[in-house]
Amino acid sequence: MVTPTTNPATSSPAEAGVLDAVIIGAGFAGMYQLHTLRDRLGLSVQVIEAADGVGGTWYWNRYPGARCDSESHSYCYAFSEDLIKDWEWSERYPEQPEIIRYLNFVADRLDLKRSIRFQTRVTGAAYDETANLWRVTTDDGARISARYLIAAVGCLSTANVPQFPGLDTFEGDWYHTGLWPHEGVDFSGKRVIQIGTGSTGIQAAPVIARTAGHLTVMQRTPNYSVPARNTPLSAEFRQWVKDNFADIKRTMRGNTNGHAFTIQDRSAFDVSDEERLAIYEAAWEKGGLQFRASFRDILTSKEANDTAAEFLKQKIREIVKDPETAARLADIDHPYAAKRPPIDTDYFDTFNRDNVDLVDVRADPIEAITPTGVRLRSGVEHAADIIVFATGFDAMTGSLLRLGITGRDGLSLSKAWEAGPRNYLGLQVAGFPNMFTVTGPGSPSVLCNMPVAIEQHVEWIADCIAYMRERGIEHIEARDDAADGWVEQVNEAARATLLPEAHHSWYLGANVPGKPRVFMPYAGGMARYREICDEVAAEGYEGFSLT
Ligand code: NAP
Repeated sequence: MVTPTTNPATSSPAEAGVLDAVIIGAGFAGMYQLHTLRDRLGLSVQVIEAADGVGGTWYWNRYPGARCDSESHSYCYAFSEDLIKDWEWSERYPEQPEIIRYLNFVADRLDLKRSIRFQTRVTGAAYDETANLWRVTTDDGARISARYLIAAVGCLSTANVPQFPGLDTFEGDWYHTGLWPHEGVDFSGKRVIQIGTGSTGIQAAPVIARTAGHLTVMQRTPNYSVPARNTPLSAEFRQWVKDNFADIKRTMRGNTNGHAFTIQDRSAFDVSDEERLAIYEAAWEKGGLQFRASFRDILTSKEANDTAAEFLKQKIREIVKDPETAARLADIDHPYAAKRPPIDTDYFDTFNRDNVDLVDVRADPIEAITPTGVRLRSGVEHAADIIVFATGFDAMTGSLLRLGITGRDGLSLSKAWEAGPRNYLGLQVAGFPNMFTVTGPGSPSVLCNMPVAIEQHVEWIADCIAYMRERGIEHIEARDDAADGWVEQVNEAARATLLPEAHHSWYLGANVPGKPRVFMPYAGGMARYREICDEVAAEGYEGFSLT
């Protein structure tokens, strides 16, 4: 928990107009970080946000079918009983507009917007060693100085639009799902090509297919998916959540993935073949991400994983009527959940529609965009009025690197991370004093239900700053040896799982050509990570230099 301080002003910077902290980003992370620093610690704080509203990744991702894969009662702030009490989710999985409404509700309730500078992009942030301050510049010409810089830019916020030759010649319209127009897109009667079948593409295709004249889904890597089984929430369930939130919170904070379900403590081989099948069948009927919690060893034993993988491939073959399409969809080359496992509403069934085709762009890759469509290496051209790029993100590092951050001695973050992200606990980079990243690479972040990971980081950072101020400490910096040790722990944690076996996963940076291949999130589990961070703090911030 954040320690409130009544007399925080032990080290007010001497320069006039200097803030205590600048936070970049007004999504889940930036909003809560603002609340902890401004309202609990009494600091002067400015949030800088490129969008004209709060929401972060949810502000930009307005594509058809955009909905959270975490269940609504777990996809929210847990730090405040009042917020839990006064908000009602309508469905099992919240849709994008509802999440934006929720975040506005929180922002208004906590009076956050007055400290957020909207429609402003950070163009640079440089550490001034003499003054021990961060000098932040923005695209509207502002120059802001602050003691602490906190990057709360999200893990999935820099769109990855593949550099296909000819995109600029396309005469139709094209969109990336992560930069979707606010007014929506009318697909009625249009020939649509969707490139990408990750979590986003799997959500979007069924919705686009409903109105498009024709939808061609271009699949490079086939993917598993489990039905979401979305449904409106009953009044009884909503009341149950409010009455039991303390237990729900304990579950979310005490397990590896931050969700409100527990991973079964049994191996896939503790049960007979028939029992295992019945367990998978029940999990399939229940739907959602907890399918992977059916057995404790799904992500650690290839043999256990194979049982889940085969079950899910068989489901595809049963749902999709055309055997050739079914075979292409089920030709999955990685262990189940080694890439982020999607959940869906009618994804595989969408390929039974007359107006939907599947094209295998692994066998026949996209060569160019032409004025009228997409041309494959074989020379086959698919015509389109609209191209939808569901091609993901320059994940975890992309948004941090484009901030133009330089640390001590003019070291740029891109130089420091030339060979891949290297930091301590996912929280601080050596050479970048007083700068923190929320759910950065090296933290559980994307392997966890995000709000749970975010709350832990935000509270740890706020506690750390409070600790420093109480002791007159003005400078905190991750030590090089601690960062090296942590990178090794991140690698070790990944190696203990099947996650690195998905060679083309964005967890490894493999989706962006030229990006260093390093397993980025910490796979040792949120609960273990929380313990490590708590131990580091209890030992007087071991691994950091404090001066
Ligand atoms: P993604 O998982 O990276 O998927 C991108 C898709 O585009 C993949 O199928 C990829 O193929 C394909 N692709 C990329 N470049 C391509 C190219 N040059 N040619 C052909 N195909 C190409 O991105 P995403 O679906 O946007 O999801 C990213 C993450 O966002 C998810 O894993 C999840 O963490 C989060 N997300 C969450 C939700 C939710 O909670 N509801 C919804 C959507 C997304 P390869 O696999 O071969 O690279």
